[in-house]
Order: sequence, then structure tokens, then C-alpha cells
Amino acid sequence: MLITLKKESRSLEKALAGKFRKVPHGEKIVYIIDGKIPKDLLVELDIESSKETSRSFKLASREYSEETTRVRIGDAEFGGPKIVICAGPCAVEGHQLLLDTARAIKDVGASVLRGGAFKPRTSPYSFQGLGEEGLKMLRSVSEEVGIPALTEVTAPEQVSLVSRYADALQIGARNMQNFELLKAVGRAGRPVVLKRGSSATIEEWLLAAEYLLLEGNWEVILCERGIRTFETATRNVLDVAGIALTKTMTHLPVIADPSHATGRRELIAAASRAAVAAGADGLLIEVHPKPEIAMSDGPQSLTIREFELLMKEVKEIAKAVGRCV
Ligand code: PEP
Ligand code: MN
Repeated sequence: MLITLKKESRSLEKALAGKFRKVPHGEKIVYIIDGKIPKDLLVELDIESSKETSRSFKLASREYSEETTRVRIGDAEFGGPKIVICAGPCAVEGHQLLLDTARAIKDVGASVLRGGAFKPRTSPYSFQGLGEEGLKMLRSVSEEVGIPALTEVTAPEQVSLVSRYADALQIGARNMQNFELLKAVGRAGRPVVLKRGSSATIEEWLLAAEYLLLEGNWEVILCERGIRTFETATRNVLDVAGIALTKTMTHLPVIADPSHATGRRELIAAASRAAVAAGADGLLIEVHPKPEIAMSDGPQSLTIREFELLMKEVKEIAKAVGRCV
């Protein structure tokens, strides 16, 4: 049971004898309670709302909020009528290259600049990202172009450093169940893009989001980025039905990352169209001015021209499902 009160209640806490969790939500306090509250206490309390959910993830559930939560990164609002497009290189590689990319994507309608400075790579021999130097480039380009910056954080001890430079933090697929990282990011006071682990069920993904919410961070955007199956022809498999299903299970906005889902540039437009048609609230797309020399994920990065064309297609699909870009 979820009970929202205007302020904390000592008498409720006493009656529950420690068997509750509480979380601030704006000005209010949400109590998560196992079981029922004594009837006499119920009348005494100034209850804003009381909700039941049988879900394991409570705060993230649709039962907690029927309305989709709107999450902002800078001026971009996820969960509203607009499909928000986040784009940029897989990794921050250099100032000029990032500047050119940011200007180009913003010109054609992207609202968030992505770029990793700490890269979680499968091989320890692969490019690991520029670290703080990359974060500085991201910040300066973000300010010069006037577009908010989203970047990955891979360890709890990086959270304060990354938060100094980024408008929003990304938790990568490989870290979806890094619980200490989730808790630290939950306390960072920044919006979060939480990728789905490549072998995670939707319930596990929403329970990972619950860790963030339990720390009082309600600015959570879920990102479907493809799951692993027996198929090896694509890098992962975009769970299109999973996007639609997740939106029925949670009030949090859900976006899709067709770049990591397909791993192949030529499939990104089709996967993007499908995701938007299925109800995704945004897209996260890798774009690189010269994918052939990209230091990571070149084969799945769109050129600037290809990204422009994709934006046109996405606009058409958005219109068809009553939304805009
Ligand atoms: C990325 O966004 O570049 C990335 C590493 O994504 P994922 O965690 O989904 O693999
Ligand atoms: Mn990548």
C-alpha cells in the first residue's frame, strides 16, 4: 500500500513499528507499507492519496500514478506529447568533432546531446573514453550550442564528478543492476536515463528504477536498448512490444535506443519508426560525422546526413500516432 501525506507522521511511523519505507515526492511524503493501517489511525491522518499495487516495483508502477510522469533534461520534456530526440557520438572523442555534431543535430531537431566520457567496453583493450577531459568538452560544447548534455556514469565514486558537468546521467545496460551505483545516482539530483540490461526482464528493469525512486529521484527515463536472444545477425533485438508493455506497467517515460538495439546503421530508421509507433517517448541515436573513424560503435552510428533523413521519417510516424517531434 502506498500512502501519500502532506508531511511526515510520527504516529503513523510508531504504529507501523519500523515496517515501512518513506520517500519524499515533491513537497509530499510517500509511505510504502506492507499490509494495512489501523482504522482509527486512518481517520487521524491527513491523507492526500492512498494506492494499492500488487507490483513488486511500487513507486514506479502505473498504479502509483495513472498519469505519465514528465521528466525534463534542460528544456526537453519526456513523457509529454513531444518525442524527444537525444543524439550524439557514442563517445566524446574531441572538441571540434563534438561541436560539429551538436550543431548539426540541434539544427534538425534533436534536444539532448549524448556522448560518453566513461565508456563501459566489453574488451579492456578498447577505447575507454576520455574521462574528465571528455566531460569538460561535453560541458563546453553543450553551453556553446545551447543543448543539454547526457553522459554515462559507470561507478558510484564517479557520480559527483560526472554530475558537475552533465545535465543528466545515463546508467548503462551493463550497470542496470549495479545497486550501489543506482543508489548513488538516486541521490545525485540529476535526471537519469536508465538503460535496460541486455538480459533483464521488464520487471527487473523497473525494480532497478525503483532503487532510484526510493532515493527520492523521480526524474527517471527508461531506455529500451535491445535484449540478447539467440539471434546474432543484429547486435541485440529491439523489444518493440516491450516498449508498449512497459508503458502500461509504469508512469515513467520510456525511450528507445535503436543504435545499440540493432548495431547496424542501415536498420536504425526502421527500428526508430517501430519504436515511435509502439509509443516510445523519445529516441537515443548515435551520430558521428565520420563513423568510419569513430573510436567506438562506428558501424551503428549515423552520419549527419542520415540523421537528418531519419528525423524526417520520425516526424511522419510521430504525426501518425498523434505526437510531434
Ligand atoms: C552507450 O549508450 O553508448 C552504451 C554503452 O549503451 P548500453 O549501455 O545500452 O550498451
Ligand atoms: Mn555506444
